[in-house]
Amino acid sequence: MKVKRLLGRYTQEQDGPLFVGMGGIHGNEHAGILAFNRVFEHLEKTNPPFKGEFVGVAGNLPAIEQKRRFIDTDLNRQWTDEKISFINAETRRNLKSSEALQQKELLILFNRILQTSNYHPMVLLDMHTTSAKGGVPFSIANNTELSKSLATNLGAPAILGVDKIISGTTLNYFTKLGMCAFGFEAGQHDNPQSVDRMEAALWLTLEKLGCLDVSEIPNYSEHRNLLHELCKEIPGLVEFTYRHAIHEGVNFVMKPGFKNFQPIVKGQVLAEDNSGPILAEQDGMILMPLYQKQGEDGFFVIRPVNEEVEIS
Ligand SMILES: [Zn+2]
Repeated sequence: MKVKRLLGRYTQEQDGPLFVGMGGIHGNEHAGILAFNRVFEHLEKTNPPFKGEFVGVAGNLPAIEQKRRFIDTDLNRQWTDEKISFINAETRRNLKSSEALQQKELLILFNRILQTSNYHPMVLLDMHTTSAKGGVPFSIANNTELSKSLATNLGAPAILGVDKIISGTTLNYFTKLGMCAFGFEAGQHDNPQSVDRMEAALWLTLEKLGCLDVSEIPNYSEHRNLLHELCKEIPGLVEFTYRHAIHEGVNFVMKPGFKNFQPIVKGQVLAEDNSGPILAEQDGMILMPLYQKQGEDGFFVIRPVNEEVEIS
């Protein structure tokens, strides 16, 4: 799939939020991009009243074209202060990896958007899909109230604490810029339902932010039910407790059949690599078990957030 960096832009120049969505920061995850096409097509056709501005951005263009997670390195792990200053300081010609060039273009675009936009608050939604089958969708929130409320508004479980276990994600970066950032994982990469769920996530967020009136959203209640119905059995708020990092050359292989939110118990065999079986270190639920070749995260463990702790 060949796409332009700017997937779409819609505003009526009325006060309101700036809502930036990004799809395809992992190039094999096309669902977000397809969902933007649907939403922008509808907005352009019906031209509804709109508060603020809505912008859709494509992440890793060469990887999207080749339908690979990345070309040289994972673009969603490069957003640390060090990497960003390096990329900002270098000329394009000196940037050797494909992702470094992509990141430079994205940084220039984001800076331009942030500096010229008159809209508040500024919100970023980063859209992903996973390799595991039977995926229940979920969202990832950072620690601001708006991020948590937008993430839980989607009806899928919201996961907190990503910054404690992965560094260099776009969520970390935008949080540091003072923006509200949240992520959405819609399901398996090539499941057509993942596109429907992404589309639902965009409409629900546009409504929650006050950009669009419900009456202007096509099939609003279907979008709402699509996500809410899927996640009835799963706790609404969970947090990351563990990430299994994969080091080069260890031949990590996940045991087959794990699904997102599947309960696991301490001592259970989850995967294996050159050093033998990999056991669960604690009880919890498994998230994003790796069933594709590219990736630095073998799996994550999550647990429900104790609401009392959450409030204090
Ligand atoms: Zn992804």
